[in-house]
Amino acid sequence: MNQDCFLDPQLETLDRPSLVGLQQSKLKRMLDLLWNRNSFYRCKWERAGWKSAPRAEDFRRLPFTTKQELLDDASCNPPYGSNLTFPLQDYIRLHHTSGTTGKPLVVLDTAESWANWKRCWAMIFRAAGVSRQDRIYVAFSFGPFVGFWAAFEAAPEIGCLALSGGGQSSEQRLKAIFEHRATVLVCTPSYALYLAQLAHEQGIDPAQSPIRLTIHAGEPGASIPSTKERIQEAWGARCHDHAGASEVGPWGFECHRQPGGIHVDELDFICECRDPKALETVAPAKSGELILSNLNRPGFPVIRYRTGDLVCFHQEGRCACGRCFQLLQGGVLGRVDDMMIIRGVNVYPSAIESVLRSFREVAEFEGLLSQHKGMQQLDLRVELQPGSQERGAALKERIQQELRARLSLRIDVELAESGSLPRYELKSRRFRAK
Ligand SMILES: [Zn+2]
Repeated sequence: MNQDCFLDPQLETLDRPSLVGLQQSKLKRMLDLLWNRNSFYRCKWERAGWKSAPRAEDFRRLPFTTKQELLDDASCNPPYGSNLTFPLQDYIRLHHTSGTTGKPLVVLDTAESWANWKRCWAMIFRAAGVSRQDRIYVAFSFGPFVGFWAAFEAAPEIGCLALSGGGQSSEQRLKAIFEHRATVLVCTPSYALYLAQLAHEQGIDPAQSPIRLTIHAGEPGASIPSTKERIQEAWGARCHDHAGASEVGPWGFECHRQPGGIHVDELDFICECRDPKALETVAPAKSGELILSNLNRPGFPVIRYRTGDLVCFHQEGRCACGRCFQLLQGGVLGRVDDMMIIRGVNVYPSAIESVLRSFREVAEFEGLLSQHKGMQQLDLRVELQPGSQERGAALKERIQQELRARLSLRIDVELAESGSLPRYELKSRRFRAK
């Protein structure tokens, strides 16, 4: 296939020095603008000792921004906080974060900033190989959570038909995909698996659907090899990961060459990988916290924002897709504060998902965390695909053995009733306190 349809040859193929030069000029504009018009950042930088607008060269000395700071600012400056660069009447979109980790944060966008969301999503689609012949089905509730709103609105930017899955049951969504011959499915990875399971229960093979590409966000699943393989097999489609956050923007995507991770959209974001405790730069190939600054969202900027996402920077170089954008090996590996210490072993939820999803019989799972004699304890509940129950006991034993072999951990697995565990259309909460 002609590579030109996958990227903008003017911007997306820039070499590293040109890309960094472009970032620096955008950053300069942003820092000047925020110093003059954004009281949140002006105060923050004044407190850190700046007496005039920070220069682009000062960037790595600027203080980090945390979500808690944005939440505290919203409480002190109701209703929307002081991280607004323009008068309120200039804002045209209001969304809030999913609230999976606490109180939701309201984020506002101007027409310019929202246009940038759509441009970023157009790149995500192009990078996955979506063309104007495609029909995009967005299985999303279209509530106040920003989720896939920008994806839906970006479809016209590449000239294709977008179908909303808002206000529909899973059965209706499945029917709509076949009826309208949708070729691209946009949803969370676990919802794609759930829809596929539902199709099978209704005697329909989802692999026979017109879906040829799937694009996922909200959970790290689409970059976990066993989950990716499950989705690809179930839908007979190529599965792509994407990453974004309400307070940052849609910052990452997996290109059509699928290099084993996601690219950071460095035309729109500056990325850093830092040790989550010492906040020092982490060497390539070592994991650390992703720090992002958005360059094209002046309406709701974040500068050196601690995403809480655990990532691993791959050595720089040009990807086979033609881009020099930073590659995050394995996508988002988990949340920095999701790390569990089970019997002295550091373990992330994604590592457990990777083992569980390698069993075709596993339909869904959840992890229950508790404290036992001052130690963290994890119990897993696993729901099997219909028809697998009769082999339950043997399967349970095999899953426990595999967890022991891959993670050096003895974890108890309990079988759950078919259909008893929750399915997630938005951000999942598979690991929680008992
Ligand atoms: Zn690539």
